[in-house]
Amino acid sequence: MIKLKNIEKVYRTSTIETLALNEINLEVGKGEFLSIMGPSGCGKSTLLNIMGLLDEPSKGEITVDNETISGFSDKKLAHFRNQKLGFIFQSYHLINDLPVLDNVELPLLYRSSSASERTQLATEALQKVGLSNRMKHYPTQLSGGQKQRVAIARAIVGRPEIILADEPTGNLDSAMGNEIMDILINLNKNDGTTIVMVTHDENMAKKTNRLVRLFDGTQVM
Ligand code: ADP
Ligand code: ADP
Repeated sequence: MIKLKNIEKVYRTSTIETLALNEINLEVGKGEFLSIMGPSGCGKSTLLNIMGLLDEPSKGEITVDNETISGFSDKKLAHFRNQKLGFIFQSYHLINDLPVLDNVELPLLYRSSSASERTQLATEALQKVGLSNRMKHYPTQLSGGQKQRVAIARAIVGRPEIILADEPTGNLDSAMGNEIMDILINLNKNDGTTIVMVTHDENMAKKTNRLVRLFDGTQVM
């Protein structure tokens, strides 16, 4: 599903060069639930952003769903990302002055769906995360766990094949974190969605199929 070959990422400013990822070779299979762990600054977010085609590697090749990404124009890349990938972040990234339902509809605005179709799909996504009773609320009126459930609904509304989650339980207590993990596990098991998750939490990582550890930009197992 996702193949990374000899990926290197260097961040350069006029004075500093940081080797954030060094010779990463990684294959994520269809239907896998992979977690990425490692100390702060080891390159986890950089790796996830590269897998999610949000950031470009300095060297190496990325293949997603058998398509080699390097030749893509920005427009094709944006379209591909919108069709195939769903994103979840630690800090939710919801739009506070839009109601929950409108937040969930956002990824569909780039598609040719009609307004009623968008509402239908967003309603279904909210049902899936158990939040159909909060559609007209605003994000500021929700708990952290509820906000993350809205973010998951937004990530799945376009039925992506792959979900990329950066510390999805990082701002939540363990009970709410476990609820979020249960939703992700269901998406993986029942819908066959491939998931790659960055986490600090061994207990969350244990619930996934496979663990990759990074240290200082290098894969250690
Ligand atoms: P993690 O997610 O594991 O905490 P990151 O991927 O955020 O690690 O960062 C990896 C390394 O790259 C760190 O040393 C960090 O300081 C550096 N880094 C990350 N983003 C940038 C950036 N935009 N510019 C320069 N250096 C960066
Ligand atoms: P934090 O760990 O500080 O909460 P996030 O995990 O929320 O950060 O975000 C990780 C990275 O993804 C950041 O570099 C951020 O700029 C980027 N990002 C966040 N939301 C989006 C988005 N909707 N689309 C593209 N990039 C995003």
